Amino acid sequence: MSAQLKVYNSLTRQKEIFKPINEGAIGMYVCGPTVYSDVHLGNCRTFVSFDVIYRYLLHLGYKVRYVRNITDVGHLEGDADTGAEDKISKKAKLEQLEPMEVVQKYMNGFHDMMAVFNTLKPSIEPRATGHIVEQIEMVQSIIDNGFAYEKNGSVYFDTVKLAKEGDYGKLSGRVIEELLVETRDLKNQDEKRHPSDFAIWIKAAPEHLMHWNSPWSVGFPGWHLECSAMSTKYLGNNFDIHGGGNDLKFPHHENEIAQNYGSCNCQPANYWLHTNMLLMNGKKMSKSIDPETGISNSIAPGELFTGDNPNISKGYSPMVVRFFMLQSHYSSTLDLTDAALSAAEKAYRRLMEGNKVLQELSPTGKESAGDLDKEINDLIDLAFAEMSDDFNAPKALARLFELVPKINGLKAGHLAFDQIAVSTIERLKTTFNTFIFDIFGLKDDTIAGGGDGEYETLDGLMQMVIKIRQNARQNKDWGTADTIRDTLKALKLQLKDGKEGTEWSKE
Ligand code: AMP
Ligand code: ZN
Repeated sequence: MSAQLKVYNSLTRQKEIFKPINEGAIGMYVCGPTVYSDVHLGNCRTFVSFDVIYRYLLHLGYKVRYVRNITDVGHLEGDADTGAEDKISKKAKLEQLEPMEVVQKYMNGFHDMMAVFNTLKPSIEPRATGHIVEQIEMVQSIIDNGFAYEKNGSVYFDTVKLAKEGDYGKLSGRVIEELLVETRDLKNQDEKRHPSDFAIWIKAAPEHLMHWNSPWSVGFPGWHLECSAMSTKYLGNNFDIHGGGNDLKFPHHENEIAQNYGSCNCQPANYWLHTNMLLMNGKKMSKSIDPETGISNSIAPGELFTGDNPNISKGYSPMVVRFFMLQSHYSSTLDLTDAALSAAEKAYRRLMEGNKVLQELSPTGKESAGDLDKEINDLIDLAFAEMSDDFNAPKALARLFELVPKINGLKAGHLAFDQIAVSTIERLKTTFNTFIFDIFGLKDDTIAGGGDGEYETLDGLMQMVIKIRQNARQNKDWGTADTIRDTLKALKLQLKDGKEGTEWSKE
């Protein structure tokens, strides 16, 4: 029996007993990536965290509709809402591509990476550009309800009106007076009645590549609006869970709440879950070069797997990285260091080895039970209770690690089977498989060259490395291409370029 599920709700700033709107079913919306560049390891941390949450809800027997969007228009540079360039348009001009080519390229890369990390696909993955009609309708209803106004073809949300009704700022705790001071002096700010108002429809400048007809102008929707429109379309006016990284709390999620209130006088999600940021060596990941060390405090997922980065001593497999992510609670910062990854690798192997030993145990004892039996059942109950306490994967993992010495003790004969009921051994076997594979979403990549799914993981990884090398060659980045080839050689992996593309093999 699992304990009652509790979640930390950012909206109320407290842990609450989780009660779905419709018994047995859950609607969950998670803000997806803006696909204008290669997926960042920080993004991966957030999506792996929500993958574990999704998996645990499924384990509890809920029917979950998991919606995770793709932002392919409207996200402006610096998270601005006016006067800045659209991230995707900018990249398209830079690379001389169609904006949709940029979107497709990085969305494919994102999907590949999600597969490498063994995340489950969402139930629906809506794209902002596919929901322009819904967004225009929502802007119209916000105007009709008196919460937005048009100025020179753009439409702005009236935060002051909402604040008067006592609601703007409830998620982030910001108050409108502070926002007045904070808001930067951006182009078109003068169109707003108040600096904290934000654009929900933006009139496109002539050079803007992506634009649509609307009652107000040829333009494009604001970034915040897409999530309000798409969550409403697929999950209804009021749904259970809304998630994202905690850097999105303000303004993105605050403004989503405002828009939903403005369009239908409703609160979108009952529970707001926020993941914390990924750091490296105790500092925010950043691509800029540190003048002291001469290296940048950042690492791409591909580099993490190949070891081709000065911040790490060797490559770590995707499952080791996933395991590393499980070792901290989703709402705590996670500090990526070489030492922590190396420790995670050892712990991951110990868990996998422990499970292998466990699955091969064949108890011959009678149906009797002693203290050891109770101890094992209590630890199993505790592991589930930890997961039900705001999805505390690191604590649940710790309980499994308390069980590993017992498994090894039984195998070595230090502990006697006649102290444990046969059914308890069976329960232990099921529990380990359920946690490791179903809830934590790990795969066993400790068996070199074999094992269930092992080849698929390696192949997925190699296909990604081949793509990175191809890109490097296209960009005449011979240094990266050579390092990839040399690193693979050291790992006894060969690449063969042919007419049909590049093939890989083990030496
Ligand atoms: P973006 O593509 O920037 O819109 O971000 C996609 C998701 O990744 C959002 O939920 C962000 O909050 C999250 N995210 C961005 N950077 C990090 C980071 N360093 N650590 C964890 N999550 C992040
Ligand atoms: Zn969003």
